[in-house]
Amino acid sequence: MHTLTGSCICRNIEYELKLASINDARTSICHCRNCKKAFGTNYGLTAKVPKDTLHLTKGIPKEHVADNGSGALIHREFCENCGSFILEYGEVAKDHFRYICVGSLDDPEALPPKGEFFCKDRPSWMPEIPNVFHKQAINE
Ligand SMILES: [Zn+2]
Ligand SMILES: [Zn+2]
Repeated sequence: MHTLTGSCICRNIEYELKLASINDARTSICHCRNCKKAFGTNYGLTAKVPKDTLHLTKGIPKEHVADNGSGALIHREFCENCGSFILEYGEVAKDHFRYICVGSLDDPEALPPKGEFFCKDRPSWMPEIPNVFHKQAINE
């Protein structure tokens, strides 16, 4: 069992991930325009984990629900006090998976990326991550 901990920057929200195997987490970068806006930087970086591996140990995140830019609802949870983005999930995945913002982990290096999505929207100045998969969109 691998236990990873994380929090928002003010630590009003804390959580644990209890993974049977580190491979139960799938980290990816997303360059889509929706992620750029939500993360407030030039890409999103999340680790997909089974929903029941996530345990909130402190605080209740605030939720924002919106169209993801292609007609599907996406739920985003963040700290109401400091604004740190903690996790997101799409409507279709909501009963099964959570996408944890990797920077909220206390050790973000624990879950390196396995691939990149929406490479067509990658900034011209940003190099590809070597030795991972690269998709032009989501299901090219
Ligand atoms: Zn906070
Ligand atoms: Zn995205």
